[in-house]
Amino acid sequence: MITKIRKRDGRYVKFNEAKITEAIQKAILAVDAEVTLNKIYKMTRDVVKKIEEETPEGRVPTVESVQDIVEKVLMASKLPEVAKAYILYREERSKARDRESRLMKTFQEIEHDKKTTTNFLLKRGGFHFENSTKSILAYGREGAKEYNKMFTISSEFVKMHEDGDIYIKEIEYYASSFNTLQINAKKFTESCVTSDNVLLTDCKTIDEYLVRLTYIIAKAESDIYGGIQIPDFDFLLAEAVRKNYNSIYLNNVNKFSKFKNLNLNIHDLSKVENHEEKLKELGLSTEDIELIKELTNNELEKELLRSLKRFLITIKLMPTKNQSGIINLSIAYGTDTSEYGRMVTKKILRATQEGASGHSYTTPVQIFKIKEGINYKKRDKNYDLYLLAVETHAKRMYPNFMFLDATANKIEDIDTLRELSYGATRNRIVTNVIDYNLSPLGRGSLGETTINLPRVALSSKNLDDFYNKLGNVLDKVIEQLLEKYKNLSNLKTTHLPFLMRDKAWRDSQSLNPNDNITQVIKNGSLDIGFIGLAEALVVITGAHHGESEEARILGLEIIKFMNKIINEAKNRYGLNYQLVASSKVDLLENFVLMDQKKYGIIRSVTDKSFYTDSFHVPSNYPINAEAKIDIEAPYHALISGGHITYIELGGKQENKVASILGLLKLMKKKDIAYTAINHHIDYDPSCEYIGEINSNRCPNCERIETNKSPFFKYRRINDLLISPINLETFEHEEVDLRVTHINNLMRVSGFVHDSIVDGPGLRFVVFTQGCLIGCVGCHNPETWDPDGGTLVELDDIVSMWRKNPLIEGVTFSGGDPLLQADKTLYLAKKAKETNLSIVLYSGKYYEDLLALNNPHINEILELTDILIDGPFEIDKINLNLQYRGSENQRVIDLKKTRESGKIELLLV
Ligand code: SF4
Repeated sequence: MITKIRKRDGRYVKFNEAKITEAIQKAILAVDAEVTLNKIYKMTRDVVKKIEEETPEGRVPTVESVQDIVEKVLMASKLPEVAKAYILYREERSKARDRESRLMKTFQEIEHDKKTTTNFLLKRGGFHFENSTKSILAYGREGAKEYNKMFTISSEFVKMHEDGDIYIKEIEYYASSFNTLQINAKKFTESCVTSDNVLLTDCKTIDEYLVRLTYIIAKAESDIYGGIQIPDFDFLLAEAVRKNYNSIYLNNVNKFSKFKNLNLNIHDLSKVENHEEKLKELGLSTEDIELIKELTNNELEKELLRSLKRFLITIKLMPTKNQSGIINLSIAYGTDTSEYGRMVTKKILRATQEGASGHSYTTPVQIFKIKEGINYKKRDKNYDLYLLAVETHAKRMYPNFMFLDATANKIEDIDTLRELSYGATRNRIVTNVIDYNLSPLGRGSLGETTINLPRVALSSKNLDDFYNKLGNVLDKVIEQLLEKYKNLSNLKTTHLPFLMRDKAWRDSQSLNPNDNITQVIKNGSLDIGFIGLAEALVVITGAHHGESEEARILGLEIIKFMNKIINEAKNRYGLNYQLVASSKVDLLENFVLMDQKKYGIIRSVTDKSFYTDSFHVPSNYPINAEAKIDIEAPYHALISGGHITYIELGGKQENKVASILGLLKLMKKKDIAYTAINHHIDYDPSCEYIGEINSNRCPNCERIETNKSPFFKYRRINDLLISPINLETFEHEEVDLRVTHINNLMRVSGFVHDSIVDGPGLRFVVFTQGCLIGCVGCHNPETWDPDGGTLVELDDIVSMWRKNPLIEGVTFSGGDPLLQADKTLYLAKKAKETNLSIVLYSGKYYEDLLALNNPHINEILELTDILIDGPFEIDKINLNLQYRGSENQRVIDLKKTRESGKIELLLV
């Protein structure tokens, strides 16, 4: 006889037959069936009997097994509707339990992380939480995520998201908020009453404009989870400068008239249109008036610079809705040729150059718009501002540059000078199914979902299968974004106070407070992103688009295929689906981790902890700037929802302006639409050096970095400038692996074109310049000076060995070839492309090289066949040794060593 039952949490409770009767009755009531009480009791007895029959002697039945039996008895009793209701009831309860347990598990993880993460810089869902408010926000965020996964989003889309096929951006806002907004800020500088009953009067001074701008950015941030764009920063502020000029001017006239004892009523003068004539009538000379104007302009410029610095600092420090500490804002400028518009651009660039107490502003993302006839050519009115922008970029890595003449940015009937820009993470909206040339102002993205392209490739048998699978994933993403769109359309105007009640969203002026936003939401875009085109190409063709022509052609074909499907969906649903080159780095890691589990570590695909950003050539692939630009440029015109090309710039600080100018010229010619150039702007506050600092010693003043006075470093990640101390491990790896695309110059001591003594076979030897090891008795002390030797283009070195078809390998000797590890890596990769063997000399032992954990050195070692390691020790000199000079040095077969995991010597 059954006396006990085991619950799901493991507890044993008294078996109660009445509970079975109760459950059957509830199911009967749910479908309104007519069943007699006797029949109910009979079914209860049948259940109990079956439990007794099916439970082995000495065992206790579980709640699950009892419920299975109830289901069977209901089915056997010819009450299928009741059985169905019972099954549904079980499913609902199961879902609720699942929800509770998932949510509780998440909350427990948050608590655990809080207690165990010592520096408390744990990132969860894309933001740091290191204080109590942020922890509470994490609870809300995780709770909303779980709720949406359980009740809002279709289970197949949740599964795709959780399995790593796709990434649904900010899932917690799925049914409550928009992704991005391009603000029409001008309307908020005029008199109005906001949704929270704040009376805003007309802005009159620069400060008032900038305070108002900060206020509306904060308001927009509460309705938007992605980025906010201001595409007309110079035009907007020019109006403020003009108004401010008048007030400063009148003030100066007043001071001047008192000084000259003139009887002048400023109030009356302010009403006069032509001040100058009036002032002359009152006795002021032309020289007096010119002096007043000059004073006014000087004051105005100072005032503007001060205000812009305050604005930049406020934006940098402003607390954000999700407490991430980074406001996702972009401002664009450079095309207003009016006196005051030019002044705004000049001063924002000056403020950016000066920085905050010398430090770079990491936010907002600044964009300089390049346009022929406005600022690109010497004769153009704003050419000086273009040069200033380049100078500023060389010092602060901002502004980025967009080319308004590029195919991707030529949009008829849109005032591109004022209205076109990119968001902080490169998104934008330029299309509209109803009216193609609808202004982007007051519009934005409703949501973004990113496709894991390497996953599609890894799961495909061949190219046809790849296209088939990619088509299926795209169809699913289109459906999923449609689901999000429908969820958002049901929101009431009141739910989005800034967008809809304050009328920041296009056409929202027609909405009443209680209306649904359905009729205006169609102005937004539904963004389909992708990650890892390079890795997908490696899976399909064996090489990425930087490496092979076949991959290069296929890469573009894949994007055209995606566009075709997206355009069909756009026409089918009448909605603004668009393709975006995704930037979100945090999802790159998740995708790779999941693919590593599923497919293992695959060389050049899943062997790093990140996938390559969108259509980019991998950042660790050695390629010169022109070739990279050639490969990436066609994607800009194909991907209308947002794109960017990065170039990694090396070299000395003093050469950067010329290099950036050259690069921009090249990019413009090749039809790039948007770019940012990455380089080192590390900063030593002690001597104010800006440039590359790659150790704890300042290369300028030679002081050693201390905790009290650290160096400041910035790296561009996810389109934003970030301090390396805030980078995740995989972001560090991505940054460390980057190779420069320009200044591919190696400092070389000399070459031997056909050596038979520097390794097996006929070899080309590169004697690199620079060695800090300083072995006593070194045979090549002339190679020690890191600034000695000559600079040689890397590709020229490759051409040298390629001229001789008999060459069997390349030897890197020195000097220390690892002192210029990124350059040696470039050459090593080029050597491997034509199957040449690699011999490497190093004054450090293999174990010490591994301990350095330098990504470039690690990669060089991976490619090396023979390593001759260790310093030259004069007391162990032996002239009979092959390839080396002293007994302590080893000739290691690195290939075998890698395979066996222990040192394997080639020569003993
Ligand atoms: S490592 Fe080589 S180049 Fe450097 S000092 Fe020693 S022997 Fe000379």
